[in-house]
Amino acid sequence: MNINFKKDNGLVPVVVQDDRTLQVLMLGYMNEEAFEKTKKEKVVTFFSRSKNRLWTKGEESGNFLTVKSIAIDCDQDTILIKAVPTNVVCHTGNFSCFGDKDAKGFLYELEETISQRIDGKVDGSYTYSLYQRGMNKMAQKVGEEAVELVIEAKDDNELLFKNEAADLLYHLLILLKAKGFSLEEIEEVLQGRNQ
Ligand code: AMP
Ligand code: ZN
Ligand code: ZN
Ligand code: ZN
Repeated sequence: MNINFKKDNGLVPVVVQDDRTLQVLMLGYMNEEAFEKTKKEKVVTFFSRSKNRLWTKGEESGNFLTVKSIAIDCDQDTILIKAVPTNVVCHTGNFSCFGDKDAKGFLYELEETISQRIDGKVDGSYTYSLYQRGMNKMAQKVGEEAVELVIEAKDDNELLFKNEAADLLYHLLILLKAKGFSLEEIEEVLQGRNQ
């Protein structure tokens, strides 16, 4: 990995992304020493311009960034790291330094899990077994769960209502996956109506 540390006083910007959700977590700088330490220890160490020394993210807070992969941009002067954060990344308490409002949230994680079960043809997975039963069955399940939700809406059992709402969302995600659509595309339709 050949990084050009010659520009900008030997400092190269580093974008850190959440390995699972791809949310951008923070930006820092590395000199060559920080980069070598990060590669060796698999925990992100920056060069802090304010502390003027190597700074292992999490050294005080315990909120480390465990490295999953490292990529370099087209002209070798910017680093992209995918990492698993121990906890919140920003010292303000936000999960990401860029705020939490564009965090994708749990439904996107669930969408990813559903994709993995189906693409990985995971034996014993309910998701995959439903997928194998075909498009009609998956669509029908959405209908069934919707009807169950309608029934619960007439009642006032909070727990049952919430569970049927969850069933509906889950089965809808399976149907979207089977149809080749992403949750994001549906979100865009909704956002488009809001303008
Ligand atoms: P930490 O590295 O998480 O132990 O935090 C040590 C110190 O580094 C904090 O008190 C902040 O001054 C600073 N710091 C921590 N996290 C960030 C961050 N994501 N962006 C900028 N500064 C940070
Ligand atoms: Zn570049
Ligand atoms: Zn921050
Ligand atoms: Zn149900």
